[in-house]
Amino acid sequence: MEPGATCGYCEDCKHGRYQLCPDVEFAATPPYDGTLGRYYKLPSHLAYLLPDNLSLEDGAMMEPLSVGVHSVRTLGQIKANQTVAVFGAGPVGLLALAVAKALGAKRTIAVDIDQNRLDFAKGYAATDVWLPPKKNEGESIIDYSRRNSEEMKAKLGLTDRGPTSVDLIIEASGAAVCVQTGLFLVRTGGTFIQVGMGTPEVTIPITMLLVKELTVKGSFRYGPGDYELAIALVAQNKIDLKPLVSHRFKFDDAVEAFQTTKAGKSADGKGVIKAIIDGPQ
Ligand SMILES: [Zn+2]
Repeated sequence: MEPGATCGYCEDCKHGRYQLCPDVEFAATPPYDGTLGRYYKLPSHLAYLLPDNLSLEDGAMMEPLSVGVHSVRTLGQIKANQTVAVFGAGPVGLLALAVAKALGAKRTIAVDIDQNRLDFAKGYAATDVWLPPKKNEGESIIDYSRRNSEEMKAKLGLTDRGPTSVDLIIEASGAAVCVQTGLFLVRTGGTFIQVGMGTPEVTIPITMLLVKELTVKGSFRYGPGDYELAIALVAQNKIDLKPLVSHRFKFDDAVEAFQTTKAGKSADGKGVIKAIIDGPQ
């Protein structure tokens, strides 16, 4: 189920962008409770029947996967044989890579400052990975971002135009350096999608945005058609969600699940990608 009850009557709902509904009752967004319970009331059009070959755990993972579908397909309008760079290799970034690969991307490049995350991304859905260089002393953030994009292009054989350029950027980190690097990196006429929520105000190379005639969009949650495609891609074995479930907890141990997610790793040192809490027995 989509964990947000939209009103169905406002301008955005009626125009097919219900993710922008101002009256949405979104689970776990105060004052609304989350979905940790035996029952959860939701308009029926936001609930989906899972195909027989999918588990309830797969079903729970449709929420983050739909964020990837919304950014890469619905807004990014990816086409087969394109090159995509995803900044941030957390759950949303990994799933964006998976969607890009499933929809026929030629190269899927993961960017992160954590080598372990990059190693995981390489084994999951990334064809290439990039660990940014260290920032020089006294270097401004924008100069650092420009240098980062230039080094990335040189090392990965990326160009500003043509078949070796980056068609689509999915920014899933929210870090200023990644936003700027993505705008420098993307091809002339390319598309940049902001998914990560982080630094609220970022200096943008606006001239570059205009001379390259970039398409820049914000991506918020998911809307019409995103859950359907997410379910279909997993049901058709084009995306495997199981490797992303790093931790599983019983319903009664829900507090421990939140603590583990907050800490980023469990007591045994294993890093958290997604922690799943079982339903009540
Ligand atoms: Zn509405």
